[in-house]
Amino acid sequence: MRVPSKDYGRQYAALWSELGPAIERALHGDEPILGAATSSFETEFADFVGSRFAVGVGSGTDALILSLRALGVGAGDEVITAANTFMATVTAIATVGAHPVLVEPDPTSLCLDMARVEGAISSRTRAVIPVHLYGRLCDMQALHEICAERDIDVVEDAAQAHGARIGGQCAGAFGRLGAFSFHPSKNLGCFGDGGAITTNDCTLAEDLRQLRNLGKRGKHKFLHIAPNSKLDTIQAVILRCKLPYLDAWNARRREIARLYHEGLSELSAIELPELPRDEEHVFHLFAIHVDRREELCDHLSRQGIRGGLHYPIPPHLQQASRSLPYRPGDFPITERCAERELSLPISPELDDDQIAAVIDAIRVWCTSSSASSVTA
Ligand SMILES: *Cc1c(COP(=O)(O)O)cnc(C)c1O
Repeated sequence: MRVPSKDYGRQYAALWSELGPAIERALHGDEPILGAATSSFETEFADFVGSRFAVGVGSGTDALILSLRALGVGAGDEVITAANTFMATVTAIATVGAHPVLVEPDPTSLCLDMARVEGAISSRTRAVIPVHLYGRLCDMQALHEICAERDIDVVEDAAQAHGARIGGQCAGAFGRLGAFSFHPSKNLGCFGDGGAITTNDCTLAEDLRQLRNLGKRGKHKFLHIAPNSKLDTIQAVILRCKLPYLDAWNARRREIARLYHEGLSELSAIELPELPRDEEHVFHLFAIHVDRREELCDHLSRQGIRGGLHYPIPPHLQQASRSLPYRPGDFPITERCAERELSLPISPELDDDQIAAVIDAIRVWCTSSSASSVTA
């Protein structure tokens, strides 16, 4: 049975009776950029997150870059983030000229370890970017307590956590700013690049509207040197159509995570991600840890099951990071995850039979590979 990691075709087919006509109307309109669709989506997304404002931008990476710019973070400043994040978080910090200070995650949740964040704070620390990795919220209460008294800003990297909640509060509504990606692979994705920044701060929202649009105010005045990074009408139309389904899709992801736990928890060769009880984890990824993961990945792919690696080379070991003061061995938890992580298919379009096929294939591999290691 074929089990893709994403099934965009199946998702769009299910939405087409609504989405097709909406795209057609947009194409017949005269607002390709910064029109009513984008501003309606911004209002709806802000409501969903529970923040006062949302500003649509060109990507999740730009959402992070523009957030840091709006806060005035730049050369000489330090920004603390997770060593085990996706490269874009580090790229954003370096792009504004600030210095990325990486810290190890908690080994169980894989989210920022707040004791290490506190230990990494210096007189130059301007901001912390917690990354809600794989859809699980960082301990935002603890982070708030660390940052508030020191006047350090919090910018959430919520690119993997649309709709993740704890105590009813949503990812993107905890920090001063929340940065989202709508890359097609994310829990809420458009058909291209897109992103948004959420905030309760009216002045920051206004600055962000200028910063995404060449630093422009009104028609002819340019106040800042800034990029051109807007969420276009077609992407906004797609996102408006999908947003009402997001909570149900996230619930389906949790259901699939539960099925994986039922089917795989007794296998000693496989470490599963926790199913947190008191929060709504949105399982952007279901990342297991396993020795010989390439072997398991090949075994799955021979049966049409697509696993993924997130992320085999951590940011501090990327060539792009060669000017940072980090070496192999500096982040053992992160590096061990990078060697052993394998993501199982978890998109909400997958049906129970497909998930059962993944579970069966892994059980077969565990049985035969433990048999072969006994004979070896
Ligand atoms: C996807 C992602 C980004 C970047 O988003 P893009 O829209 O691809 O630029 C940033 N941070 C994390 C954690 C991500 O997963």
